Amino acid sequence: MAGLSGIPIIILKEGSKRDTGKDAQRRNIAAAKAVADSIRTTLGPKGMDKMLVDSMGDATVTNDGATILRELDVDNPVAKMIVEVAKAQDDEIGDGTTTAVIIAGELLKKAETLIDQNVHPTVIVSGYRQAQTKAQAILKDMSIDVSGDSKTLTKIAQTAMTGKGIELFMKKLSQIAVDAATAVAKTERVDLEESVKIVKITGGSIEDSEINYGLVLEKERLDPMMPKKVEKARILLLEGTLEIKKLSTDAKITITDAQEMASFKQGEEKVMADQVGAIVRAGANVVFCQKGIGQAASHYLAKNGILAARRVKDEDMKLLALATGAKIVGDVMTVTAKDLGSCKLVEERKLGKDKNMIFVEGCTNAKAVSVILHGSTEVFLDEMERALEDALYVVLDVIRSGRIVPGGGAPEIRVAEKIRQYATTLTGREQLAVSAFADAVESIPLALAENAGFDPVNTLMALRSKHQQGLQTYGLNIKTGDPSDMLAEGVVEPLKVKTQAIKSATEAATMILRVDDVIAAKQEGLKPKPGQSPSDYTRPPY
Ligand code: ADP
Ligand code: MG
Repeated sequence: MAGLSGIPIIILKEGSKRDTGKDAQRRNIAAAKAVADSIRTTLGPKGMDKMLVDSMGDATVTNDGATILRELDVDNPVAKMIVEVAKAQDDEIGDGTTTAVIIAGELLKKAETLIDQNVHPTVIVSGYRQAQTKAQAILKDMSIDVSGDSKTLTKIAQTAMTGKGIELFMKKLSQIAVDAATAVAKTERVDLEESVKIVKITGGSIEDSEINYGLVLEKERLDPMMPKKVEKARILLLEGTLEIKKLSTDAKITITDAQEMASFKQGEEKVMADQVGAIVRAGANVVFCQKGIGQAASHYLAKNGILAARRVKDEDMKLLALATGAKIVGDVMTVTAKDLGSCKLVEERKLGKDKNMIFVEGCTNAKAVSVILHGSTEVFLDEMERALEDALYVVLDVIRSGRIVPGGGAPEIRVAEKIRQYATTLTGREQLAVSAFADAVESIPLALAENAGFDPVNTLMALRSKHQQGLQTYGLNIKTGDPSDMLAEGVVEPLKVKTQAIKSATEAATMILRVDDVIAAKQEGLKPKPGQSPSDYTRPPY
């Protein structure tokens, strides 16, 4: 596109920044590697934690790759793409984020070497894609069907929680994860966030943590005259209000004497009496209302021995519906017995030193549950919650898919070995790219060994040798540093964690490799980020 008269044609706005060719690739790869390196040391059971301090000075201590990357305030566009990989992995399967990002970083590092040897990025991209497809097949091939085996579910939960600083309480927490996931798996399509509510209580010991087949509401009953405890609860979930709407300003009612005033009030009371009458007729003894409940209604509810709470959050209403089998009713006058949900007990009581809460308990066939976590500090509770979430996801996946693979780097060694064999069937430079892919996948057992303080190269050699003998379930024994059978050790993971990690890593790496031109618009005046006050921003706009 040289200018006809030899004068370069400028097509970009003044102030734009442009990197092309190898320069662009090198910079992009460096940024992606930097992200991968930042979380490499957190991988595995012996991974270290990171302490993240936000702009308000609040600290998070975590070992969770997804959390670290979410909290990192990354400014580089390529680094942002890598962070997206972690997010995608986290949304898809809830675990394996560190693995995905490490592999992506490694794929790019190897690509850089190949580019230096004049292998064109297009060839690398094509080689990586072929290898990725192979890897999926190899993983499926080595996976094991464990449908209906509940002992494996506990092991899956434990592997997902290993290294998160909660080892001592693993037995308790993995059981909770398995029970909760099993309960919510009854629904066709579940979104864990919409069916498991985690309630964190500071104080008490982790051992007091428990699963509640129902829901814990951070609410008090509306009126002290209402019962504190209702057994054999029949629950109404009401979307609308139980109060007379405030008169709008242009509605004008002229009340001239006290008599009229009284009858107006009586009118309001009558409406409420009728509405509560409908609730009583339907047979409800507990009412959860998403909007307001007025004084008159509250009075009638209490008089009829009904326990009620108002302004219940939207997500809690949905959870209540799943847990108790109730329908969410819009118009209270149409409510019938069929709309009500049921459970053994609804009770208001205190948990630890916290304020009163309403417990909805003993829901038979609950498709939503609450998990009550006790812990000494908030920072610890947050990490416990993240570990539990990871475990819930993977257990749910295995309940559904039934397929697992051994952990401890075994699948990565197997994939690398098979892909190297495949590479020998190829000719030309693609062979180099396919072999590089195998090396990149092996960075996982390398990092596991390194983080546990074992010699990474020796460990890798020992593992490869076992696999060459056909022992494909052998991975790194984190206690001894030697290869051992991961199935016997109980270190197992869902197949999906591995297939998804390799897939997301390859997609991100190839996307970045295909870029050979970075055109950045001139940075306009910097705007404060959400949560940042303009005065934090002292840099001038140019
Ligand atoms: P990710 O974010 O990728 O899940 P983790 O820090 O959770 O990263 O580490 C996961 C890796 O640790 C997996 O390769 C898994 O097989 C391995 N792992 C977990 N528990 C053990 C164990 N007890 N022994 C060996 N490897 C383990
Ligand atoms: Mg994990």
